[in-house]
Amino acid sequence: MAIREIVKKGDPVLGKMCHPVTKFDEKLADLLDDLKQTLAEANGLGLAAPQVGILRRAVIVINERGEMLELVNPEILEQSGEQDGLEGCLSVPGMWGYVKRPDWVKVRAQDRKGDWFEVEGRDITARCFCHELSHLDGHLFTELCEKLYTSEELDAMVEEQEEGQ
Ligand SMILES: [Zn+2]
Repeated sequence: MAIREIVKKGDPVLGKMCHPVTKFDEKLADLLDDLKQTLAEANGLGLAAPQVGILRRAVIVINERGEMLELVNPEILEQSGEQDGLEGCLSVPGMWGYVKRPDWVKVRAQDRKGDWFEVEGRDITARCFCHELSHLDGHLFTELCEKLYTSEELDAMVEEQEEGQ
C-alpha cells in the first residue's frame, strides 16, 4: 500500500470521463488499497480514482458507521428527497460551498472481485456518494455552488449569525 498524491483543481485529469473497470486483478486491488490509505491520511470522507490521477471508475466512501466502502463501476439506481449543505473536496483544499443533493440514494456497484452489490446512503453518506460518483464523470462540486467560501469566511458567517441572535 502507498499514499498517492491527490491532484488539485486545475489539473485536466479531474475534468475527464473515467473508463469502466474491466479487469478485477491485483492492479485494481492495489488501487483500492492505495485510495483507502490516501483517504485515511487526508482525513476525508471520500476519494475517487481520478483524484489520484487514475481515470478508472472506482471510489471509496466512508459511511456514517465509519466503514470504508469500495465501489467499482458505481451507478445511482434510485434517489429521493433534497438536502442543501456545505461540501468540500480534497482536490479543492480550503474551500467550501453549498450544494443541493438528494437526501437518499441507492447505489449499485461491483466489489474488487467483480461481484455486484447494492448499498443505500442517507444524509452525509448520500451526499458523499453523489460527490464521489460525479468525479467519475469529470465534475467537481464547485460547478454546483454559487459561491465558494474559505474557512475564515465560514467562521465569520457563523459569528455574524450568533451576534444577530
Ligand atoms: Zn471531491
